Amino acid sequence: MRVIVLGAGPAGMSCAYELDKLGHAVTVFDKDKQVGGLAKTIQHGPFRLDLGPHRFYALDPVVNRIWQEILGPDLRVVPRLTRIYYNRRFFFYPLRPFNALMNLGVWASLVAVGSYLYSKVAPFPREDTFEEWVSNRFGRQLYRRFFQSYTEKVWGIPCGEIAAEWASQRIQGLSLWKAVINACGGGTGLKTLVDAFTYPRLGTGMAYERIRDRLTKTGQTVALNHEVVTLYHAGNRITGIDVRAPDGTVSRQEADAYVASIPLTLLVQRLDPPAPPAVIAASQALRFRNTILVYIVVDRPDLFPDNWLYIHAPDVAMGRVTNFRNWSPDLYGDSAQTVLCVEYWCFAEDAIWQAPEAEMVGLATRELAQTGLCRPEDIVDGFIVRLPRTYPVYQVGYREHLDVLIAYLRGFANLQEIGRYGTYKYNNQDHSILMGYLAARNLAGEGHDLWEVNTDTVYYESGDAPSPGTANA
Ligand SMILES: Cc1cc2nc3c(=O)[nH]c(=O)nc-3n(C[C@H](O)[C@H](O)[C@H](O)COP(=O)(O)OP(=O)(O)OC[C@H]3O[C@@H](n4cnc5c(N)ncnc54)[C@H](O)[C@@H]3O)c2cc1C
Repeated sequence: MRVIVLGAGPAGMSCAYELDKLGHAVTVFDKDKQVGGLAKTIQHGPFRLDLGPHRFYALDPVVNRIWQEILGPDLRVVPRLTRIYYNRRFFFYPLRPFNALMNLGVWASLVAVGSYLYSKVAPFPREDTFEEWVSNRFGRQLYRRFFQSYTEKVWGIPCGEIAAEWASQRIQGLSLWKAVINACGGGTGLKTLVDAFTYPRLGTGMAYERIRDRLTKTGQTVALNHEVVTLYHAGNRITGIDVRAPDGTVSRQEADAYVASIPLTLLVQRLDPPAPPAVIAASQALRFRNTILVYIVVDRPDLFPDNWLYIHAPDVAMGRVTNFRNWSPDLYGDSAQTVLCVEYWCFAEDAIWQAPEAEMVGLATRELAQTGLCRPEDIVDGFIVRLPRTYPVYQVGYREHLDVLIAYLRGFANLQEIGRYGTYKYNNQDHSILMGYLAARNLAGEGHDLWEVNTDTVYYESGDAPSPGTANA
């Protein structure tokens, strides 16, 4: 079978990897100049840098097997330290009771416990929103301190407008009680997860570069710098796609089956003949959040020990800071400098999305100084990467629009949608890889419903997970 895969991120590459094993002829198209999608690793001088923090963690044995096959001994275990910066203090994340108590103070801690108990006696009767869902499990005080400001930075809308589905997908199984028991040493799985994660020696993109190398070796095609501009259809089938090459020429490509990890909304809008007006309207109602990554090169080797920090403080706009020095020594070679990645989230229509590079580097420099993470005089370089459509926004009501698209797209017999953009799901790499793998298996006659992958996911901070060491076993 000839199969065209749209997008060379984790979903597309793992799909192509499995299709290759199954003996199909595969062509992958991606508009980017390198593989890996949001999980690629970029080169800057001597540094290899990811697009923000990208730890590897998977509950699914298939995903762990794929990582193991392609990375082998290059998949390393990295000690984990992540903290929350709030109110000029650092709180361990997941929370450790003594540290939280010391930082909050006795009075605020008692209020938090009281508020938690109150939420047990008088919970919100409905759990439609993120605010209600989290407050019912942690109490309003802890919700305000440890969930609200960060979540609103990520999503750009009040927590009262974010669908509870997002919370249940991402923090399912984690209760205050479990967190406290675990932090006091009573937990098993959670502790191991919190202490370490797996990560490729040369950055997360290494996994997808390895797949690209294998595909090239077996005679398959990975066409980078090739943007999919049109998808043609007739009856219930996709009949071909138009792809724009770097020199601007557009060519028609045909296959027996198509697997798409490009944004669901764009896919629907690029169909020829056009999708029905109600489907187009639904695609326009779904929103994505964008990310601006500001990379700051600091002329010091030891800034802080965390892999990344969550910045909950509402007086700064930055949301997360990654310190690549604490991931893998092979990311920075002999350099004695540190590269930090500072994340800002926004919508495409926000002014900050168009802000010049120097302005963003200046903002990150000021905010890093304000939080005491580094001194401006130690900063020797800075640059930005703009990432459109990084987070599908689970705004209350989004599901109705998504269902319209799903119902329409299910009508195409030879098209499957996979991935974070492709299914409008808040996927991590493991979920995207699993979707890609299952899409390939569907072409071998299996019957997986890809729209269901990740809906009942056990959140990877939860206690029942295997040790990250198992991926290296
Ligand atoms: C800041 C940040 C931190 C993250 N942290 C983690 C983490 O710690 N652990 C983890 O597992 N995951 C993490 N993730 C999520 C992870 O990056 C994604 O789950 C994963 O990359 C999704 O893979 P995908 O293949 O579904 O989509 P993508 O990686 O988005 O790939 C889609 C591909 O489609 C291509 N494309 C789009 N439009 C077209 C077109 N018209 N024509 C051709 N190609 C096109 C894009 O260029 C891209 O390469 C993080 C993501 C972000 C943004």
